Parts: sequence; C-alpha cells; structure tokens
Amino acid sequence: MYLRLLVFCLLIWVTNVLNPNSTMKTKMKRRIDFIVIHCTATREDRRLSEEELERYHRSLGYQECGYHFYVKRDGNIVTMRDMSKPGAHVRGYNSNSVGIAYEGGLDANEDPKDTRTERQRDSLQLLVSSLRRDYPEAKVVGHRDLSPDLNGDGKITTQEWQKMCPCFDVETEL
Ligand SMILES: [Zn+2]
Repeated sequence: MYLRLLVFCLLIWVTNVLNPNSTMKTKMKRRIDFIVIHCTATREDRRLSEEELERYHRSLGYQECGYHFYVKRDGNIVTMRDMSKPGAHVRGYNSNSVGIAYEGGLDANEDPKDTRTERQRDSLQLLVSSLRRDYPEAKVVGHRDLSPDLNGDGKITTQEWQKMCPCFDVETEL
C-alpha cells in the first residue's frame, strides 16, 4: 500500500523536475482557495470506472471529467483533469478550487453513506496532504459545506445542505 503511495509521490516529483510544462508548474497560475471533496453517488455494491465517470460527465456537456482527481475503491488515485484548468464540480467555486471525488457515497438502497474503504481513506489523506503542501492557504471542505448560508449566520448547518455529498464530515476527518 505505502509503496504504491510512495511511487505516486515520486512520479509527481519526477514529472515536475523533468517537464517544465508539467501540471505541477502550470497549476501555480491558478489561485486555489478550496480543496473540495465529493462522492460519485455510486452504490457501494456497484463499481464506476474512470472511463464511465468521464463518459458520464461528457454526457452532461462537460469537455472532460469535472473533477481533477478520482479516488477509487481500491485506493488508486486517477488524475482526471489538469490542475491548471478550473474544474466543473461545484457551483460558484470552480475557478478557485480543486475537485476530488471518491467512488461511492450510497448504500445498496441508494441512501447517502460514507462508503470509503480503508484504502480510499488512506489515499484521500495522502492526496489532500500533498495538495495542502502546495496550497497552504486552501481550505479543505466537502461539497455540502459550500451550500449557500441561507440564514447568514456564517455557518453551513445540516438544514442548509443542498446535497449530502460527500457523505462524511471533511472537517473532522481530513
Ligand atoms: Zn459533490
């Protein structure tokens, strides 16, 4: 597990050093204020490949997948969109955020559930730590935490959530 994560980090580093036009360099051009965590709203007894995810987003009219990273049930982290480009994953915050989605978020009855596997938790943790190092000012939030503050009290309460996504409390877990 950890060897795989180490290889992932090493690959990013090598790409960065060898290729001056790599995503790690060009991304500096875009201001990142939020690292937004999503779920794909996939039932825990179903699978969603990165190709299916990409196809789904294209069917919605996006040019490519709206998220920058996809964390699969087996812990694999797939880059879906170049970091230098704004994502298409959260209304009002796409230009200054990075979008990460994990595979899952629903139980077998299609009710919201934190379905993250141990490997997904580890990979999310690793990916977020790596992004935090690159964007120390960015806030890590769940999609639902960016719902409109309807009563203007400065807090997004459960009654104000427009969606359940990502079906876990990002603030306490990441
Ligand atoms: Zn979402």
